[in-house]
Amino acid sequence: MIRLCILCGKEAVTGNFCKDCFLQKNKLFEINDLRIILCDNEDNYYLQQWKDFSNVRDMLEDFINLNMKKFGKVERIHLSYKPFKDGYDVKIKAVGLLNKLRKIEEKDIHVSIKKKMCDNCVKISGRYHEAKMQIRGDNLDRIVERVKKMIPKTSWVEQSRHGYDVFFISKSDASDLAKFLRKKFEVKKSFKVVGAKKGKMLMRDVYSIK
Ligand SMILES: [Zn+2]
Ligand SMILES: [Zn+2]
Repeated sequence: MIRLCILCGKEAVTGNFCKDCFLQKNKLFEINDLRIILCDNEDNYYLQQWKDFSNVRDMLEDFINLNMKKFGKVERIHLSYKPFKDGYDVKIKAVGLLNKLRKIEEKDIHVSIKKKMCDNCVKISGRYHEAKMQIRGDNLDRIVERVKKMIPKTSWVEQSRHGYDVFFISKSDASDLAKFLRKKFEVKKSFKVVGAKKGKMLMRDVYSIK
C-alpha cells in the first residue's frame, strides 16, 4: 500500500509527508541574532571566557557553532558576512540530514559587536605585573631581540636608561623564558616585596639578565 502525502498527495516517504513537504515543514537548524564582546584592542573575544582573537570568520564560526540549535545532523556550515551597522550581517548556509533526507538551509542573522577591554588589557593598562626582567650588559640588543620573539602577547618591553625592562603578567611566563635564556646568558633571580595582602607578603619576581 502506498501512503500519500497529506499535504500534496504525492507518495509519502517519511510519516505522512513526501520528501519536499517534509523538508519544507522541518527546520535543520535555528539560530537567533547574536551579540559578541570583542576587546577594544582586538586581541580577545568573550565566549564563556576570554579567547584569542585571530580573525572575524573564526570568531563568528565559534559563536554560531555554540548557539546553533540543530534538529538534524548538520554536516557542513558555510558563512558569508559583511559589515553592517554595529557588526556584521551573516548568511549561514548549512547542509545536513533530516530523517536521512538531505537538506540545504539558509538563514540570515545580525551579529552585533560590542567593544570592551579584556582582562589582559585591563591588567596591562594598569601596568599590573607579577614578574619583570631587567636586560643589561654588553649583549643587551641580542638578548632583547630574542626575548621579543618569545614573550607572550600580554607582556611588554620598555627601554630604560640602563637597558630594557620586560614585564610579565604571570610569574610562570617569566620563569619559562628565564629557563630558556639560562642556556645562553647569565640569569639571576631575586624578589621584590611590593605590598601585603591579608598578612601575606606580595612578591614580584625580578630577573636580571646579562
Ligand atoms: Zn507533499
Ligand atoms: Zn584585550
